[in-house]
Amino acid sequence: MVFHGPGDLRWEDLPVPAPADGELVMRIDAALTCGTDVKTLRRGHPVMIPKVPTVFGHEFAGTVASVGSGVSRFREGDRVVAGNSAPCGSCPSCLAGRPNLCEDLLFVNGAYGEFILLPPRLVARNVVPLVGSLPAERAAFAEPLACALLAIERARVEAGQTVVVFGHGPLGCLLGMLAASRKARVVMVGKAGWRFERLKNLGFARWLDASSAGNVVEAIRDITGGRGAEVTVDATGRPEVWEQAVDAVGRGGSVLFFGGCTPGTTIRLDTRRTHYEELTLLGAFHHTPEMIRRAVETLASGALVPDSLISHRMPLEEVGQALALMAKGEALKVLIRA
Ligand SMILES: [Zn+2]
Ligand SMILES: [Zn+2]
Repeated sequence: MVFHGPGDLRWEDLPVPAPADGELVMRIDAALTCGTDVKTLRRGHPVMIPKVPTVFGHEFAGTVASVGSGVSRFREGDRVVAGNSAPCGSCPSCLAGRPNLCEDLLFVNGAYGEFILLPPRLVARNVVPLVGSLPAERAAFAEPLACALLAIERARVEAGQTVVVFGHGPLGCLLGMLAASRKARVVMVGKAGWRFERLKNLGFARWLDASSAGNVVEAIRDITGGRGAEVTVDATGRPEVWEQAVDAVGRGGSVLFFGGCTPGTTIRLDTRRTHYEELTLLGAFHHTPEMIRRAVETLASGALVPDSLISHRMPLEEVGQALALMAKGEALKVLIRA
């Protein structure tokens, strides 16, 4: 599937890539749709898609089909997961141990295809072998799970804390599942509807229906004995929800701004509370090679089983329809198989 610009995704027949020095070609066994793809299809993406036309899709797992000269860590037939980016390793952010903020982050696309060509930097830094029997359709969750892991690490979620997640899309759910796996008490805030009902069996401590709860912030204060939550997380990317996340956190708490808002938007902040109650306000963006590796470990160990986040399975030629379902809010994640 080739992206030619906003609204223009085409099914094209391309030659199977041949790997040059340091490169690797993967056969894609499973790919997942992502809200980012829906956004990109609507308006393009300045960072992930610097130029068009380009192959499309960024969450995938597969099998090594061929390797270029100089690639010794992998051979044909190895099952692997690749992150969709590789940091440079030498800019100030990379040297400071924050490669997700790399000034020269190299992005890779092409999950919606039979094969994908991985460039040398990605092969060297962000391809993880799959050991054991982890199925490709679970392994493909490594990328979104790595984003969620980075965020949960930044907020230092601990056992016994109340963690409120606003938004029950796939990433909100992964964030909640990770917090629950750390024995936090997770409250999911969403809107009544099929997704809400479907995800109720994920085992979170509480669900709050934002459409009927009236004042969501008061409802959260109510269920936390008036104190507010230790950690609140926005996974909606809406500025008004960012404000609710700040309002619903308690003294000394941390607010995680996970959902990216429309560029140019701002929020209002209570300066008194932020200062005297020592609120920690955290952005969380993307992932690092370390988080990709840890996400694969988390999936392989069964500590997190993401299967219930797959709402549909569709063939490669129907990626357009799959993304349309996502755009209408009728799908969580769609598993794409060639
Ligand atoms: Zn994604
Ligand atoms: Zn860098």
